[in-house]
Amino acid sequence: MIKAQISEIKALLSTPKNIVLVPHRNPDGDAMGSTLGLYHYLKTYGHNVVVIAPNAYPDFLKWLPGDDTVLKFETQQDESKTLIAKADLLFALDFNALHRVGGHMAEALESSSATKLMIDHHQQPDDFAKYTYSDATMSSTCEMVYNFIEMLGDTDRIDAAIATCLYIGIMTDTGSFRFPATTSRTHQIIGNLIDKGADNTQIHNNIYDTNSYSRLQLLGRAMQNLKVIPELRTAYITLSQSELDEFHFKKGDTEGFVNYALSLKGITFAAIFIESYQDNIIKISLRSKGEFSVNEFSRAHFNGGGHTNAAGGRSEIDMTSTIDKFISILPRYKQELSQ
Ligand code: 5GP
Ligand code: MN
Repeated sequence: MIKAQISEIKALLSTPKNIVLVPHRNPDGDAMGSTLGLYHYLKTYGHNVVVIAPNAYPDFLKWLPGDDTVLKFETQQDESKTLIAKADLLFALDFNALHRVGGHMAEALESSSATKLMIDHHQQPDDFAKYTYSDATMSSTCEMVYNFIEMLGDTDRIDAAIATCLYIGIMTDTGSFRFPATTSRTHQIIGNLIDKGADNTQIHNNIYDTNSYSRLQLLGRAMQNLKVIPELRTAYITLSQSELDEFHFKKGDTEGFVNYALSLKGITFAAIFIESYQDNIIKISLRSKGEFSVNEFSRAHFNGGGHTNAAGGRSEIDMTSTIDKFISILPRYKQELSQ
């Protein structure tokens, strides 16, 4: 984001505005941390701000400061549409293409005459926004929101609520500060956020130590279903709808499961396939280590995308056929996978 744009945005923000902040569908820690972090920041200027999430998110994110103010488009369509229609400014956070919010909401955003701004770290961004701050080298959108506030000369305005929200997104998107996009700068920002009042131990507890017994049992099943293809350094997990039902699946319960597959010694590519009767698809999460791009892999074969080492996708055929397809594609990548 260049200086001239920053001064234009500063001018836009110099008088009270109606502002809508939107994360991607099925929001994660970075999506909710960045929208709510920016929400609290914009509030310090007296703007009329609202976060509208496309749909619900897991319970472990429901304690974020400001959570009680978040609207869900899926269940609060009328109110959401009204707010989107009368917005002066619309921020898209943690996604790179409007369709990532899902059908009807994408239409509402497209037809809105608000000035659009995008802050995001996914590859290959669309150009739907007037102001685009896109950087795929960034650890998280939350790190970029910190930079954005800094570019506006406002780090003094970062209070405990903003700091807590931004800390969460950086923590969750970096796998607790270990993925390669974590830089010394990331740690410096984290240090500043702790100084501003983010309680690191409490945040970690609230996000990671709130397992239900049934989630741990589901994890047990997922680990029993783990398959390894050693010659392709690949491991994958399947979970059927009936298995999810057996363990009383709740949104967010399978978050992080795929990382266990990736933690196997010698494995550089991991996948989890989760059956969803409700969406009539197999949801896919892909993770890799090193050069193998799961973003490219997902774009090419599973209708998705994301980052080099973390991406999502979907399959519209049944589980068995999806796995057959996956296994039949893999040998084409033998060279990259065995590097
Ligand atoms: P997850 O596997 O946790 O759902 O997603 C991993 C990463 O890929 C996240 O950053 C997520 O936002 C991104 N992602 C997931 N699904 C898609 C998709 O369909 N398209 C794109 N562009 N990114 C995705
Ligand atoms: Mn993110």
